[in-house]
Amino acid sequence: IIDYGIKFDKGSDGFYDLAMEGGHSEHRVLHYKDVTGYEIERVLLKEIHAEPNIEILTHYFCLELITQHHLGKFVDKRSDDIECYGVYAFNTEDNDVEKIVSNVTIMAAGGAGHVYAATTNPVIATGDGMAMVYRAKGKIRNMEFIQFHPTALYHPGEYPSFLISEAVRGFGGVLRRRNGTEFMQEYDGRGSLAPRDITARAIDAEMKKSGDEFVYLDITMRSKEDILKHFPNIYAKCLTMGIDMTKDFIPVTPAAHYMCGGIVVDEFGKSSIKNLYACGECSSTGLHGANRLASNSLLEATVFAHRIYLSAIQDIIISIPENIPEWDDFGVTQSNEDILVTHNLRETQKIMGDYVGIVRSDFRLERAHRRLFLIYKETEDFYKKNKVSVKLCELRNVIQVAYMIIKSAMQRKESRGLHYTTDYPAHAKELFDTII
Ligand SMILES: Cc1cc2nc3c(=O)[nH]c(=O)nc-3n(C[C@H](O)[C@H](O)[C@H](O)COP(=O)(O)OP(=O)(O)OC[C@H]3O[C@@H](n4cnc5c(N)ncnc54)[C@H](O)[C@@H]3O)c2cc1C
Repeated sequence: IIDYGIKFDKGSDGFYDLAMEGGHSEHRVLHYKDVTGYEIERVLLKEIHAEPNIEILTHYFCLELITQHHLGKFVDKRSDDIECYGVYAFNTEDNDVEKIVSNVTIMAAGGAGHVYAATTNPVIATGDGMAMVYRAKGKIRNMEFIQFHPTALYHPGEYPSFLISEAVRGFGGVLRRRNGTEFMQEYDGRGSLAPRDITARAIDAEMKKSGDEFVYLDITMRSKEDILKHFPNIYAKCLTMGIDMTKDFIPVTPAAHYMCGGIVVDEFGKSSIKNLYACGECSSTGLHGANRLASNSLLEATVFAHRIYLSAIQDIIISIPENIPEWDDFGVTQSNEDILVTHNLRETQKIMGDYVGIVRSDFRLERAHRRLFLIYKETEDFYKKNKVSVKLCELRNVIQVAYMIIKSAMQRKESRGLHYTTDYPAHAKELFDTII
């Protein structure tokens, strides 16, 4: 991807300027200022647009995977011969659902941060990919491992939250209480550069003790010149709130950031459903385990996308049945009660934030499960009677993913990585995956 023209930052010696982040023992992260993902996407899109045989359809919202189920054949979680024949997708310009048949389908629908109200994720991160594969009876793994980033900018009302990159702590940033004292050494010998799970739990504990809704991040020990060079985007954002990070502490709070679990895939990105691959945040390659080190997701996404290409060009010949039906929305009407969608999303996010957040317990999980079930029933009922809309489908997916997170968390009777429960604070003796 460097050959495509991505300009990772270099130092004055001409070598790549490698950043260090939480849990890292070496400087190892290639970056482009504080907008690495943006730079990678910019260059990849340029390449894609230059390829005449690639068509990008930005006004389609994918609803469901097509499998034998749509041909009237019974499939369930125990079926090991499920095949994917493409997708049903909602054309948002024509307001109609279309059937898109394909030899190979790749799910790359991103994360699920919007299961929580406080998240750094873009608004599309509603877990659509995981939910679609789950409904198609594919296997989903380790959904309880949700990474909460310790340092989202505290700015009530801003949705999604703005991320203060971990590179700021890698650059010397120190977490402080409101009175200015440093606290991370009391939780971990690595201080403010401890891994994200430890840091997020420490901040959560500090906020619970003090009653404050944030702690501070202090990077004022670095020169203004250095800060502007490495974090121009974060500097500009803070300034819009009247915070000059070269002189002021930045108020920060944890927010849902990354889904380590997802669609089970093998080392070539193949899912448990034939002809269906998955990569990026919606997949579970096994690379992140119960935790995720900063910077590994962009690496994982690009490596697995390439592996999928290598595998798919060999597997591409399959026979697609001819009798795949069109989308059936007979009898549904246009809804005029969209308040249900907004309300049920808020309620789901509240349940998840209060009961299935950084610190969990059996009591909280059971309560969340009971409450979510009511919202699930109500939303499914509404979905069956009304014409599809993007917002309604995203709500269904958020609820589905919330359910998977709770169910997986209930199965894990231990604390490990990103899953911490007060009922089982230690590691279990044996390692295992939760697969649903
Ligand atoms: C603020 C922030 C900073 C980060 N910084 C880093 C970092 O420095 N290093 C690192 O390694 N990782 C970082 N991450 C994580 C990393 O950016 C993500 O994990 C990664 O971008 C996910 O890529 P993806 O291709 O899986 O999903 P995305 O980039 O989210 O793409 C998913 C695509 O699928 C589309 N989509 C979703 N649902 C549907 C549907 N139903 N129908 C049709 N299309 C759909 C979306 O519109 C979107 O285009 C960061 C994440 C955030 C939020």
